[in-house]
Amino acid sequence: MNKIPVACTKCASYDPELLSLKVREAIVLAGGFPKSIRKGARVLLKPNILSAREPENAVTTHPEVVRAVIRELKHIGAHITVGDSPAGLHPWDKLWNTTGIGKVCEEEGVQLIPFENQKTIDFSDGKINIKIPVLKELDSFDAIVSIPKLKTHSLTKITGSVKNSYGLVIGYAKSHFHSIYPSPKKMSSFIGRLYGLLKPDFVIMDAVLSMEGDGPNSGMPFRTGLLFASCDGVALDSCACAVYGYKADEILHIKKASELGFGLSDMSMIDKKGEGFEEIGKVQYKRSKADFLFKIPEKLFFIVTMAIKTRPKFDYDKCVKCGICARICSQRAIYKRREIYKLTSSKCILCMCCIESCPHKALALRTRLFF
Ligand code: SF4
Ligand code: SF4
Repeated sequence: MNKIPVACTKCASYDPELLSLKVREAIVLAGGFPKSIRKGARVLLKPNILSAREPENAVTTHPEVVRAVIRELKHIGAHITVGDSPAGLHPWDKLWNTTGIGKVCEEEGVQLIPFENQKTIDFSDGKINIKIPVLKELDSFDAIVSIPKLKTHSLTKITGSVKNSYGLVIGYAKSHFHSIYPSPKKMSSFIGRLYGLLKPDFVIMDAVLSMEGDGPNSGMPFRTGLLFASCDGVALDSCACAVYGYKADEILHIKKASELGFGLSDMSMIDKKGEGFEEIGKVQYKRSKADFLFKIPEKLFFIVTMAIKTRPKFDYDKCVKCGICARICSQRAIYKRREIYKLTSSKCILCMCCIESCPHKALALRTRLFF
C-alpha cells in the first residue's frame, strides 16, 4: 500500500504573494489535486466560518488563504463556490464582512452562498438512525475542498479537517445532535463517523495563525507559521495535532474516522513532505480543557462537571446581549432576566455551542479546578 503524502510548509504571514507561493508548494508536495478537481469541475470551497469574528482572532480561516486556494482552482479552470454554515444564527452579511471572506469572494468574482437550502442524508451509528440536514446543492458539486483552521477545541481537543466537515451540517441541527450525543466522547465519535458521509476531496489547512487554550472561539491566537495539505483529511489532522503535542489516537474523532477507514492515522503510512514538519514540537502550545473532560468516566460526566462547576461563564464586560447563545442552546439552559443573560447549570450538557457561537468572546468554559 502506498503511503499518503501530507505536506507541511512554512508560511510566516498572510502576505498574499507569499501565500500564493506557499499554498502552491503545499498542493504540489501533497501530490497535487485529485482527478475530481479538474478543468470544468464544480468545486465547493469550505473554509471554517464559525462566527462573525475578524481574521486576527484566528477563529475563522484567514481570507487570504481562501483567496490563494481560489486562485489555484481558477488556474486549473474549476468553477468555484464558497460557503459554510456557522455555529448559531449570524446574519450572513455580517458573517461574511467581518471574516473578510465576503470581500475576497467579491474581488475574485466567485460565488459565496448561504447554507440555507436543506436536504437530509441518512446516518446510522448502528444503534441510532438520524436524518442529517446538509446543503441541498451538495450533490451538484464534483468535489469539496476543505480549508480548515487549526485550533484547540474545548469539546473535541482540536478542530481541523475532520471537524471542519461537520460544518456542512446546516444551522441549529449541529447543536441539536449534542442532545443525542451528550458527552465529549460520544460527540467526537459521532463526528468521526459522520465524516465518512462528508469527506472532502482535498484539504488545505490554515495554521499560519492558529489558536491555543479555550478554542475554538475564545482561545488566544498564536503564530504557528504553517500550512498543511493532503487529499486525506484524517492523515492531515493526525500530523497537525502534533502542534499541541497530541498523537492521533488521543483525538477520538480522528481515531474513529481512521478506524472506520475514512483516512489514515498510522504515521508509518504517512509520507511527511515539507520543511514545516521540522518546526512542529519546537514550541508546545496550550491545550483546551477538553483533555480534562475526556478523563471523566462517561456515566459520571454530568454529576462530576456539575460538582466542580464546569460550565460556560459569561463575561458581562464583553456581552452585548445579542442573544445568539440563548438561541443556539438546544437545552434552553440560557435565559434572559432583567436584560442579562444567565445560565441554568443543571440544564447544561456542556456542548459548548454557546461558546462557539458568541461573536464577542463573552463566554468561556470555567471550572473550579482551573480557577
Ligand atoms: S454571551 Fe452575550 S454577546 Fe455572547 S452570544 Fe450571548 S448574548 Fe451575545
Ligand atoms: S448552555 Fe450548555 S447546553 Fe446550552 S449551548 Fe451552552 S454549553 Fe451547550
